[in-house]
Amino acid sequence: MQHVPPISDAVSHPRTAIPADARAVLTINLEALRANWATINRISAAAECAGVIKADAYGLGLEEIATALRDEGCKTFFVATLAEARRLRAIDPSIVIYVLDGLLLGAAAHYAGFDLRPCLGSIEEISEWAEFCHQKGQRLRAAIHLDTGINRLGLPAADVDILAASPELLSKFRCSLMMSHLACADEPAHPKNRAQRAMFEKLRVKLPPAPASLANSAGTFLGPDFQYDLVRPGIALFGGRAFVGEANPMQWVVELKARILQVRDVAEGDSVGYGASYRCDRPTRVATIACGYADGFLRAISRVDRSAGAVGFIGPHAVPVIGRVSMDLITLDVTGVPAALAHRGAWVEVLGSRTTIDDLTDRAGTIGYELLTRLGRRVHRVYVDGA
Ligand SMILES: *Cc1c(COP(=O)(O)O)cnc(C)c1O
Repeated sequence: MQHVPPISDAVSHPRTAIPADARAVLTINLEALRANWATINRISAAAECAGVIKADAYGLGLEEIATALRDEGCKTFFVATLAEARRLRAIDPSIVIYVLDGLLLGAAAHYAGFDLRPCLGSIEEISEWAEFCHQKGQRLRAAIHLDTGINRLGLPAADVDILAASPELLSKFRCSLMMSHLACADEPAHPKNRAQRAMFEKLRVKLPPAPASLANSAGTFLGPDFQYDLVRPGIALFGGRAFVGEANPMQWVVELKARILQVRDVAEGDSVGYGASYRCDRPTRVATIACGYADGFLRAISRVDRSAGAVGFIGPHAVPVIGRVSMDLITLDVTGVPAALAHRGAWVEVLGSRTTIDDLTDRAGTIGYELLTRLGRRVHRVYVDGA
């Protein structure tokens, strides 16, 4: 795997100047992103490797992420919404774009106008798309989304039989992809994975042949049996953990740093933060940094007792989060860190290679996907790419 130099240096020695008014900085490493796509592309040898960049590319910026992936060779993209799809189309007229929401009622012309392919998940959606194509006199492309057991979107088995018996529907548009989605791919040993694959096999042969797709990031790692013609990784591209129980093979893509606003000495027995929930059991030097839950640093990451909490880093020094995470601020124990490092204006890394998205969300009882998609609405963003 390609070595990517740590971007912890990127903030202290920025390749892009950090403006003085930036209180927190999210650094997004496009080189690591591209390396992750290339890794999955290699793993899924025979299958095409697409990119799932819904929700503003998992919060990291649709335009920047899509451009980097396209430059690395990615030709097919999945987004959730029509609005995301239109933004994506503005970047490149030739990439293939699928809309996971499916066909919004009455909106077929909005898909056709931007050369977008809905993932059709019901007889109603298929009928509406077929009728639209008929009116237009064009067999436009779309995916057919089969439900193999997640019971969210997609045609249930009974509707696949109805569709199979409706050649007049199928003949009016082109099915460019037959897809389904796994419910438990992040648990490789879960029996539902095999069951869904078997159901996918059973359902897709009832319909005219089309390229097939079953795997998200975790599904891709389940091996060639799950990769079919096209894989749909999302979270793994962004360095998130795709599955539980093994080391994460992806490179980390995001780093979040925030400035120290104040440093103070708190006496033994005094408390720090809302609810006075953290009490210092010794004289403690506390740094307050400019990042809080409004910046995406989940409040559930707060440390209110003696349990091992989340840690930030000032240079090589680990600095534990203490007290509650508030809207705009986090308090850290910087006792023992030289004053030359822990001072007003210094940067503290709260998310990066040493404290990963998954480390944080394991503590907070949620998943990397949620933290990523909420990060940095008001944080200064820096994209770095290569040396
Ligand atoms: C979000 C999504 C993906 C990507 O999932 P990851 O777990 O992020 O890799 C793939 N397919 C569908 C249908 C999705 O909704």
